[in-house]
Amino acid sequence: MFKNLLLAFDGSEHALKAARLAGEMARSSDAELRIVVAYDPLPAYLGEPDFQHVVSARLRHAEAVLQKALEHVGKIPKELKTEILEGPPAEAILAVAETRGNDLIIIGTRGLGRLSGLLLGSVSQKVVAHAQCPVLLVR
Ligand code: ATP
Ligand code: MG
Repeated sequence: MFKNLLLAFDGSEHALKAARLAGEMARSSDAELRIVVAYDPLPAYLGEPDFQHVVSARLRHAEAVLQKALEHVGKIPKELKTEILEGPPAEAILAVAETRGNDLIIIGTRGLGRLSGLLLGSVSQKVVAHAQCPVLLVR
């Protein structure tokens, strides 16, 4: 039914479950899958060369997070694409879904945040509120 899945991944427990589910869905419905990892925008006051160091540290970290997602998704029959973006995560996820024409966003209910009393994290809340396509919340 869904042919163009988008997994939003931050390395959290819920995101790991979302990754496994995304892999299963991609296999059972022969769907394409894109994984997006967003990292926070850098403060503008950082001058060179600090700026470059922080950029590469964030990129290396995002790549490690992405690697974890790939391990939990497993092999899928269709193409698996990945994207690392700078920006507030919800905005980045929504922008990717729009521009890539995804028909389902798969996202954890909670993430790496510490406010465990919350039902939904702020990223999943924003994505559910503004997405143009269905959203699957995984817990
Ligand atoms: P908060 O960030 O508001 O403190 P939280 O961390 O518990 O709360 P969210 O950040 O909303 O919860 O995380 C919910 C889900 O959103 C995660 O399981 C993941 O699927 C997705 N997500 C969160 N941050 C990112 C990110 N930087 N890149 C990609 N996906 C993300
Ligand atoms: Mg979070």
